[in-house]
Amino acid sequence: MTSFTDLNLDSKVLKAIEAAGYTTPTPIQKGAIPPALQGRDVLGIAQTGTGKTASFTLPMITMLSKGRARARMPRSLVLAPTRELAAQVAENFDTYAKGSRLTKALLIGGVSFKEQDQLIDRGVDVLIATPGRLIDHFERGKLLLTGVQIMVVDEADRMLDMGFIPDIERIFEMTPFTRQTLFFSATMAPEIERITNKFLSNPERIEVERQNSTSDAIEQILIEHTPRRRDMAAKDKREILRTIIERDGAALRNAIIFCNRKTEVDVVAKSLRKHGYDAEPIHGDLDQSQRTRTLDGFRDGTLRFLVASDVAARGLDIPNVSHVFNFDVPSHAEDYVHRIGRTGRAGKTGIAYTLSTPSDSKYLDAIQHLVGSEIPRGENPWSAPAPRGKPDEIEEEAPKRTASRSRSRKKDKPEAVVEPAQEAPADVAVAEEPVAAPRDNRWDRGGRADEDRGPRRGGRGRQDSGPKVVGLGDHVPGFIEMSFEERRAEG
Ligand code: AMP
Repeated sequence: MTSFTDLNLDSKVLKAIEAAGYTTPTPIQKGAIPPALQGRDVLGIAQTGTGKTASFTLPMITMLSKGRARARMPRSLVLAPTRELAAQVAENFDTYAKGSRLTKALLIGGVSFKEQDQLIDRGVDVLIATPGRLIDHFERGKLLLTGVQIMVVDEADRMLDMGFIPDIERIFEMTPFTRQTLFFSATMAPEIERITNKFLSNPERIEVERQNSTSDAIEQILIEHTPRRRDMAAKDKREILRTIIERDGAALRNAIIFCNRKTEVDVVAKSLRKHGYDAEPIHGDLDQSQRTRTLDGFRDGTLRFLVASDVAARGLDIPNVSHVFNFDVPSHAEDYVHRIGRTGRAGKTGIAYTLSTPSDSKYLDAIQHLVGSEIPRGENPWSAPAPRGKPDEIEEEAPKRTASRSRSRKKDKPEAVVEPAQEAPADVAVAEEPVAAPRDNRWDRGGRADEDRGPRRGGRGRQDSGPKVVGLGDHVPGFIEMSFEERRAEG
């Protein structure tokens, strides 16, 4: 059996590995470390949880231990798609580079340029960055990438999802042609294949088993629910979520709750807080200091519920997460695997609940196809109360899209104060269905639902507004409204 001592790593690195408690290299480490130490390019097809961060940090530290950094010219560069992942890589460097004299700088958005500039000015061995912030520094003329000997691209498929590939290509072009490249991606989409063909030179390709087969340590449960009305799906799901939280009690130590959109992340976090639960949102529109605080709180156990978007939580290595909730069924099947993989880590067991409504059937099929099995169905622990009175009287939280403005304003608050998400359609006050809702979704038949449009001028509810007026949107000219009133008065 291969051990770390067989891998030609620097003795200080071996000490740090021992201190971290690792005994055997993981398959990606076994595969990537030897060619990396020989100076070869590496193409690692692996995702988080496989030990891939150490598979590039350990050889980098070993190789960089000889030589010195020069001002504004980092000797190596690691690109990660999100601030959190970049920070995680930086933490790994701190762990494994203990005892060596290597310097590093973390360049991520939401942090002042000044401090980052000072570090770069002094000269760093390892620069860890998100692509956008790196380009900002470069364009300010504060950074030269011509001294980069080793460049790492981590989570390339996520970079692709986030539209960073042009930035990555640009950064590749700014580094010397002679650099060594260590490139990691969970999947090899055609666009990824293209850039690896372009920028990697005869790489050693290491593919570790894909985690499409979900771990046995995770109990998966699908809760199916048919909402009372289409516009109540999200509200119903919030009720189901709270019911499960209460039911699972102390067994639910903490949970990551995934939503498909940033607006929904905010709404769910706010709603949980309103009901007395300790919850914070995390997504790309939030201030970096808040994101860091929230993650730290969740990591150290002071925060119980982390409500997250895929981008913000992807790849995060947080041990001891007992529950994952898919508040929304993810629209990319692979995200299901990534999401539920946040629990059941490091020999622990975990539970992953997925809340689905009939409109999710297409996404659900794709997930079950990917993981190669049906997600076991669980009993829906919540049943909707029988409707009493008008629909808007039973609906305390859902947006009042059909009710009058004056009555609904105050009650709408938890959702109405939500900032619009980048991906939310402009005509939907609080989007409750995915942007790319399945075409054959029964809700969508017959054109866009009127409920998505927000209250009409004049505040009339749907029941008394007669046949639908198509094509005027919110801007019904006053004289037309008057003519309706007059006619009604006449009738
Ligand atoms: P990563 O895939 O880099 O996100 O790593 C996933 C987790 O595995 C992290 O918590 C690492 O600290 C841990 N890890 C990395 N290498 C090893 C190893 N050889 N043995 C045990 N755990 C490891």
